[in-house]
Amino acid sequence: MTPPTTTALPLAARTSGLVGSVIDSSTSLLASQTHDIVRFAMGSPAREAIPAEILAEVGADAIGAQAHDAFDYAATEGDPALRDALLEMLEGTTDATTPDRLTITSGGMQGLDLACKLFVDPGDLVAVESPTYTNGSGTALSYQAELLEVPVDRDGMQVVALREEAQRLGRRPKVIYTIPTFQNPSGATMTLERRRELLELAREWGSMVIDDDPYGMLRFAGEPLPSLHELAAGDPLVFSVRTFSKIVAPGLRVGWVDTDPSLQPLLVNAKQAMDTCTNLPMQRLVAAFLCGGHLEAHLVEQRQQYRLRKEAMQAALTEHFGGLARWTDPEGGFFLWVTFDPAFDTQALFPVALEEGVAYIPGNAFSPEGRFPDALRLCFASTPPDRIAEGVQRLRVAVDRLAGG
Ligand code: PMP
Repeated sequence: MTPPTTTALPLAARTSGLVGSVIDSSTSLLASQTHDIVRFAMGSPAREAIPAEILAEVGADAIGAQAHDAFDYAATEGDPALRDALLEMLEGTTDATTPDRLTITSGGMQGLDLACKLFVDPGDLVAVESPTYTNGSGTALSYQAELLEVPVDRDGMQVVALREEAQRLGRRPKVIYTIPTFQNPSGATMTLERRRELLELAREWGSMVIDDDPYGMLRFAGEPLPSLHELAAGDPLVFSVRTFSKIVAPGLRVGWVDTDPSLQPLLVNAKQAMDTCTNLPMQRLVAAFLCGGHLEAHLVEQRQQYRLRKEAMQAALTEHFGGLARWTDPEGGFFLWVTFDPAFDTQALFPVALEEGVAYIPGNAFSPEGRFPDALRLCFASTPPDRIAEGVQRLRVAVDRLAGG
């Protein structure tokens, strides 16, 4: 949302860093439209993939009439029922952890906010991927960071470019923000070699690595890679941010961070100054969902659906945009990143596309400097395959309309 340019109120200097989110604003923009729109904009799980009936069923016990204490305050670090269920859920994964490393948060966004609150002072340099999830870079800006954009290719953040850019600036980033797996927005996954190089560089510089991975459990092709958390082998420099938003439902607003145990008292103090505790009924609901053994079957189904949807989107792109654009080929997650030729303007295309009944997020929304005007992000996860074909066809109609003036 665009803030007012002047105000008589004594605003804090940091409000100049509150840049808002084009992605989040698209929720209300689209809600205000009355015509039929194929929605490739928000990174939401498919409506029909949200296990609403199971959640209602397990919720009836967990937060229903028998559970009055579910409406009380919770422990700041998280409700024991959820922490235990989460530890069990992570056992055997590359995110396996211990209770003293876990803090339950209000979604992944609060994890990012806590990370920046603990590590970013005004003027600190924060390296971000380019393109990046701008709610993440926006969080760093809200703490008055300076940003360094580091290019991403199909193998993830270009760690060599990170070193070179830092040398050119003569400054080392205090924090490196990465989405290593099925990156938002590009879909790229950082290779094992780059993961190791990144940790090596962070160690050399004494930087913190914010490892934001909401999509890693949604792999539908290829082999899983060790997480940065696992590769760091107990080194305190990795701050892992995770969420149930993509694997269960975003409206729950429940996530977690995994950090060195020495940080937990600070995290608790920071969270107590924010929201006291994460919404207890929702923590109990997620715990009941996990304890009921529902997650694995749900993930199996989701992975299969998302693979079909990605393939449907790629097939439709080949049909309507072959020779006009190129796109990525993610092995999981929600997004395809589509790049047109350099003269193309996906922001100018947006209102035309909306009129034609299709929505996406323009590429420049994923770069604090406004790079990628010729690209756009498509979320394949939220839309069934036949509607995906329809949406991509509408996009082609919009492109032709724009080109025809
Ligand atoms: N990080 C990334 C990379 C994301 O894509 C998202 C959600 N779009 C988040 C963090 C925020 O997650 P949550 O909705 O749980 O706050």
